[in-house]
Amino acid sequence: MKTLRLRPSKERSLVRRHPWIFDSAIAKGGGDAGETVRVESSEGQFLAWAFYSPASKISARVWSFDETQRIDAAFFRAKIEESVRARARFDIQSDARRLVHGESDGLPGLIVDQYGLGADGVLVAQFLSTGAERWKPVLADALLAATGLTRLYERSDTNARTLEGLPPLAGWLRGDGPVERQLQEHGWRLSLDIATGHKTGFYLDQRDSRHKFAEHARRLGFQRVLNCFCYTGGFTVAALAGGAAHVTSIDSSGPALERAAANVALNGFAADRATFMDADVNASLRGFLDAGRRFDAIVLDPPKFAPTAAHADRAARAYKDINRLGLKLLEPGGVLFTYSCSGGISADLFHKIVASAGADAGVDGYITERLGGAPDHPMTLEFPEGEYLKGLIVQKKGGAQAVEYAATLPTC
Ligand code: SAH
Repeated sequence: MKTLRLRPSKERSLVRRHPWIFDSAIAKGGGDAGETVRVESSEGQFLAWAFYSPASKISARVWSFDETQRIDAAFFRAKIEESVRARARFDIQSDARRLVHGESDGLPGLIVDQYGLGADGVLVAQFLSTGAERWKPVLADALLAATGLTRLYERSDTNARTLEGLPPLAGWLRGDGPVERQLQEHGWRLSLDIATGHKTGFYLDQRDSRHKFAEHARRLGFQRVLNCFCYTGGFTVAALAGGAAHVTSIDSSGPALERAAANVALNGFAADRATFMDADVNASLRGFLDAGRRFDAIVLDPPKFAPTAAHADRAARAYKDINRLGLKLLEPGGVLFTYSCSGGISADLFHKIVASAGADAGVDGYITERLGGAPDHPMTLEFPEGEYLKGLIVQKKGGAQAVEYAATLPTC
């Protein structure tokens, strides 16, 4: 058994059961890619069993803090079963779900989504760490055993693998079948392609936000909605399902827009209620401002501008820019659903960015809700980095709704 010896006082985060060990914390020792190593304090006390990543800045990630735990197939079966059991208790209004969410489920670098709950269901997995890669056959078998499914598609074709020194990989790992699927979430259906879609094919993490958006459309009677970074039209379909008169959707991906239009049709909405723009969001927002257009509701759900805290400065400017433009384009009383899925931007910082966007736009608004990812993308007490997705609902001040609201505010 190989050992990692930490530098003095570098054991603190492990004692708090945080699962990452940075290369700067290691005094000596190492292992092969994905190999299980014993992690010790500078004084030789056991701290954790972890897997080693020679190429990564995070040199090791913890499998277990229990010295008596053997890291073997039975260990992984138990972890997967626990993840699946937890999902049975979460409120998931969909036949698609995230089954394993990496560190939050005690399996660093393993992401698994399930599309379809019946026998025709399929699992789509990303093995993003050397540890997940090393145990891939065991994990694949355990996932199928725990779900009773027979098909697993691998989507390990992402940049995160490069950081771990692993090559991109994609294709059927177990079984095979169609890669085109449909899912049902809340009251609508959405199609996706597990082989060519982003990540595992779909952004399941925004499920409950889409539902909230539909509810707002219903309650406030949105006429003109703008969905920025629409991907395959999840928020577009939600708004139409909530009765929005018209939705303009922008994305820079042609295939995503084609599918978004198909998803509008799939739900039986008239094509003239939706407009799709293959364009850059920032440029489009500026164009709308110049043209004097206004919207009752705007969604800003951009891609990850800051993959790590090191990118936070530049990302903050990019978030601020689109939020400033978005707030200007809203009618008074209109609502903004705005998000950051950047791990490097905390909820606090995101709030400050949107506030400063408002200040620059000369716009104030009520923050009526703070949002996070759907519950099957959990954060945990031990792993705050699990909170990657954060959002705010901001209702622009002024206008009929805001005046009515202010008039009914309690006086004490
Ligand atoms: N809200 C979506 C997910 C958005 S993912 C949902 O609920 O499913 C982010 C999207 O932003 C991707 O589809 C990507 O193609 C798009 N994108 C990235 N940069 C862009 C840009 N500069 N302008 C327009 N779209 C962009």
